[in-house]
Amino acid sequence: MAAAALVQSPAAWAELTSALNKKATFEHTVAVASRELSSPAGAAAVADPAARTLLARCRTLLRTRYSSRAFWVLGRQLFTAAATAADAAGDAELKATLAEYLAECAAELGEEAGSSGGGADGGSAGAPPRGSAFLFEGQLSGQEAAPPRPPGLLDLLSGALPAELQQQLEAAAAQQQGGGGGGSGDGQGEGQQAQQAQQPSPEVLAAIEEQLDAIAVQIMDATGQQALRAPPPASKRAVASLPRETLSVERLAQLGSDVRCPVCMDELAVGEEVQVMPCSAGHIFHPPCLAPWLEQHNSCPTCRHELPTDDQRYEREKERRLQEEEDARGAANAVAHNDFLYI
Ligand SMILES: [Zn+2]
Ligand SMILES: [Zn+2]
Repeated sequence: MAAAALVQSPAAWAELTSALNKKATFEHTVAVASRELSSPAGAAAVADPAARTLLARCRTLLRTRYSSRAFWVLGRQLFTAAATAADAAGDAELKATLAEYLAECAAELGEEAGSSGGGADGGSAGAPPRGSAFLFEGQLSGQEAAPPRPPGLLDLLSGALPAELQQQLEAAAAQQQGGGGGGSGDGQGEGQQAQQAQQPSPEVLAAIEEQLDAIAVQIMDATGQQALRAPPPASKRAVASLPRETLSVERLAQLGSDVRCPVCMDELAVGEEVQVMPCSAGHIFHPPCLAPWLEQHNSCPTCRHELPTDDQRYEREKERRLQEEEDARGAANAVAHNDFLYI
């Protein structure tokens, strides 16, 4: 096996993400990304928004294009590695999102959630399970029948492709479905030419694939996978309005002994100016320590209490999430009090 290639930059993650778009490089890409996320550097890597983009792209591809079982097995491997990294990084939100992804994998693979056999072991990527249905380029013109496209994909695409591509795609899909019983030999040569005459040319297939890539990205953006994007920074106004105070003897005594700024870990002394976060604990920081953090993040460095952001879309998503949590709590309470609601 090749030596582990460490992915250290957003550019490297972006390169991997685009390699994910090609079926021929999907498996290798997942192996590299999984290995990185399972490594000791995984916790730092998973905090990189570019790494999160790769995870979101993988999930989109599984749900839209790479729907055969073998791809879901690879996806599960990647998400398992990422969940381990999110755990190490203490990122509960990302972990919850990945748990959803893994539940999708389990459902797709017809298994109970949690019975994952894929594991975070990067080494298993080299050996796809027997009987798996990989859809690599060139296979369409071979003898093995590819599984039918997921229902609804053609509807989704209609109007989004040039008419000629649309016709070719429909013809290819019809042939895939019609040719399901044909051919059982394991040779790659015989019979290929005869079949190739009826297939769209490789150029047309490549063009179709390119279009599908673009559409997959659009779908990903449209579904707004906010949870996987790093949250936007706190709004400038919210940061500017954070109260400041000069530490008095009494206040320091109240806070206990050995009070430190959680960012620089320096002990706080009487007379020092601090900024107070609006979290319930009222965590305090040196203003020059807190400012750069809030230019990158939207939450208290200590307890993750969120400040408002200027990102409308993120705020709407957050509101929806909070509402859902509240609804879930309400339902749990109703059950706890034996107070069933019939609506
Ligand atoms: Zn400090
Ligand atoms: Zn706090």
